[in-house]
Amino acid sequence: MTGLPSFADVLAARARIAPLATRTPLRISAALTERLGAPVFLKLETTQPTGAFKVRGAANKMLSLSAPERARGVITASTGNHGRAVAYVARAIGARCVVCLSNLVPANKIAAIRALGAEVDVGGASQDEAFLRVHARAREEGFIIVDPFDDALVVAGQGTIGLEIVEDQPEIATIVVPVSGGGLAAGIALAAKQLRPGVRVIGVSSDRGPAMKRSLDAGRPIEVPEEPSLADSLGGGIGLENRVTFRLVRDLVDEIRLVSDAQVAEAIRFAFRHERLVLEGAAATPLAVLLASPRGSLKGPIVCIATGDNIDPDLFLKIVTSQTEESAR
Ligand SMILES: *Cc1c(COP(=O)(O)O)cnc(C)c1O
Repeated sequence: MTGLPSFADVLAARARIAPLATRTPLRISAALTERLGAPVFLKLETTQPTGAFKVRGAANKMLSLSAPERARGVITASTGNHGRAVAYVARAIGARCVVCLSNLVPANKIAAIRALGAEVDVGGASQDEAFLRVHARAREEGFIIVDPFDDALVVAGQGTIGLEIVEDQPEIATIVVPVSGGGLAAGIALAAKQLRPGVRVIGVSSDRGPAMKRSLDAGRPIEVPEEPSLADSLGGGIGLENRVTFRLVRDLVDEIRLVSDAQVAEAIRFAFRHERLVLEGAAATPLAVLLASPRGSLKGPIVCIATGDNIDPDLFLKIVTSQTEESAR
């Protein structure tokens, strides 16, 4: 597939990934519905076999590889969840797999990737540095690169979430979705707007290095310094050579809002106390936006994508048992 993904690609993805990715539940949140004055639902990607939505895009990409391509093995760089998804799919299809990670990736995520039988290559201070190793090793050792977001097949895979949302809530008015590389938001917006053109898609990024937002403001992909954040899965740039997600997010996502680590911690606490839901930082960012939105300001039904639950257990306990972000650190 070349160029940008189409709606037909999302439909094809759904059939292709069905054996490996879960069709996730859309659960109403009584507490958020009460607060916002409009029905709020949580799309529970936390129930995927790898604890995050990324298995959708990875499965669509890797199940599209030819037999000779599979035999070469796959390589990727990841803030954690994509690497785990690629390792999971690689094991399912019997392909060799290498995952390059920066030193910012939490230990629990590294352990999970190793447990799936992938080779782990840890080093460097940023996701961008991990990518340099991906390209070098792909060149030298012949691996196929499975990009975490900037690939039409990966975007089409993430877009299957948009199909499921509209099926379950045909009147959907607002979707709030985390944005890092933008594959998730691009795919969801592509699918949901095809079926329901009036739907508003609000992206959310951490204020600690919001690469997509800064790039949109600049009118082209730019590099943004990466700082450690509670939303560790949102780390990394969009790539100066971005081919797919920059254009799709620019054209399909209505706005991008930023949230602070203090807001993310508050949203993690809220999800646990009111929903009995464990969320990692990135997955709590849509909730943080809702908690900051005045009643009546967002049109319902509203869907928040709960993208993943792969948070370090000790960090999670610190956050949910403290009142402020400062005391959680
Ligand atoms: C990767 C990831 C995101 C962001 O997805 P992009 O396609 O990179 O924008 C959000 N939440 C979680 C849990 C993730 O793993």
